[in-house]
Amino acid sequence: MIENDLINDYFTLFYMAYMTPGTRPQVSGKLPANRKTTPYIFGKHDEPVNIGYITERGTGMEPNMVNPHEKPVAIQPVRRKQYSAVLFIFLLLIMGWLGAYVYFKAETNRFSNLLEQGEYSEAIDYYRHAAGFLPGGSEKWLKGRFEGALDVRLEEMVEDYLSNRADYSELSSCLKAVSQMSLAPAHLKKYQALVEAEHASRFSDEHRAISIVEKALEDYPGDALLEAQLARYRKRAAELVLYEGPVQHIFFHPLIVYPEKAFDDDRMARGLNEFMVTVREFNRILASLYEKGYILIDIHEIFEERTNNGRTELVRKELWLPKNRKPLILSIDDLNFYPYMKENGMNQKLVLDSDGNVAAYLISPEGEEITAYDTEIVTILDRFVAEHPDFSYKGAKGIIALTGFNGVLGYQTNAISSPSYAAEKEQALAVIMRLQETGWSFASHGYGHIDTARRSLSDLIEDTEKWKVEVESLIGPTDVYIYPYGSTVPTTDPRFKYLQQSGFRVFCGVGPREYLRYYPDSLVMDRRHIDGIAFWQQPETLVDLFTVSEVIDPVRPPL
Ligand SMILES: [Zn+2]
Repeated sequence: MIENDLINDYFTLFYMAYMTPGTRPQVSGKLPANRKTTPYIFGKHDEPVNIGYITERGTGMEPNMVNPHEKPVAIQPVRRKQYSAVLFIFLLLIMGWLGAYVYFKAETNRFSNLLEQGEYSEAIDYYRHAAGFLPGGSEKWLKGRFEGALDVRLEEMVEDYLSNRADYSELSSCLKAVSQMSLAPAHLKKYQALVEAEHASRFSDEHRAISIVEKALEDYPGDALLEAQLARYRKRAAELVLYEGPVQHIFFHPLIVYPEKAFDDDRMARGLNEFMVTVREFNRILASLYEKGYILIDIHEIFEERTNNGRTELVRKELWLPKNRKPLILSIDDLNFYPYMKENGMNQKLVLDSDGNVAAYLISPEGEEITAYDTEIVTILDRFVAEHPDFSYKGAKGIIALTGFNGVLGYQTNAISSPSYAAEKEQALAVIMRLQETGWSFASHGYGHIDTARRSLSDLIEDTEKWKVEVESLIGPTDVYIYPYGSTVPTTDPRFKYLQQSGFRVFCGVGPREYLRYYPDSLVMDRRHIDGIAFWQQPETLVDLFTVSEVIDPVRPPL
């Protein structure tokens, strides 16, 4: 008999049974008050002998009294076995968890580093690769961690952007990359709203900023940062001033990059001197316009349709600008890069760089091929506005007036039967789309640069139809017509009526000072020519824009 209150150890129990041949250890007696189970020895011949407890309700195991004549192979106390199994599983879990932790941490760090370096397309590839490599289900873990990393990165970037330490282009490419990654960080919508609202506000579009933030507050009610930004934009909106003064419209031709090639006494030199400005001159003019408080606006900001007693007419639209700002419309004529331009020190065409931004392509006098951002109005202004968003109202840049007879933007989109036509058209289209995304708009400058006032209606019809087929098909519809040579026709003229029926309602001529007239169904506006003629012959008319002596290129010969 073994008194169960003596049994504290299974080994002792078994030993007592084994060492007493012919006896069967029996366990009996009262259970100690703190024990709900009875110690017992059980096991089968040739099997490990187990010692364990049988509860009063039974163990579910078949108790088998040990045969003391059979030496058990081993003694494995049941509870110790259970303990080690549990411990083993626990260790496995810990190791698995640690391994997964290390793996996910390393992957997430690599992903975060790519984000930090601005390598967004690499980050996308990395995410896809890492998620694709994981067995089903666990990519969710990775996704969660990547989303967390993105949230952190976006928060930093938004903070930097709001405090002017980062620029919009980097942020927007990050946000674009995120949308392609099918990752949805918890605060993505908030960050998007903060960035878009700030972007709008920097272009003085306070009302858009306000509506973006108000909408985001529906998803993130009470968010402190959103509330603070909303208050800022409301204050700025209240400070806008209704502008009622004159609206300036100036125009340029494509720029001269190499004056030594333009002003070289050949047969084109005089014309280039009369009608073009150099890169250096344009940069100085731009700085002066900014300094004098001009702000670029889209031409559609100056008129709207209003219906009175069933009659619709064009009227001046209310224009609310930041205080001390004067609206300015800018256009570029003949941004087609005609052969004479390409041969005389000007750019060859506009192209897209590897980031999808517009650049100029040109060939140096030494024959070197160059992709540049500081040689054409479009790219110079893109950069200037990025640095000085307060120079652009709602992100507006300028109007690009295109003919069609020599293609557009340096692409031979007129050579319909050429084997390279499809490629030329595709490249031109890509550049056009990017220009339209970045604040540029387009106008008709006729197909063949014909002199509207001197040509017949049928000539004008033929010219306009050709323009629609070859140019409007690329740029989309436009309601702005920019007369070639500034050669206008009266609003009562059949040719004017024809152009109106063709979809145009803003008609631009050329004049030395601002001229703007609203008709019920059209708008007639003169543009001031910024060129050698103005520099040499009317410098005093330009003083509200810039001082000629401060901008004129010393290499420009007198006219
Ligand atoms: Zn022209």
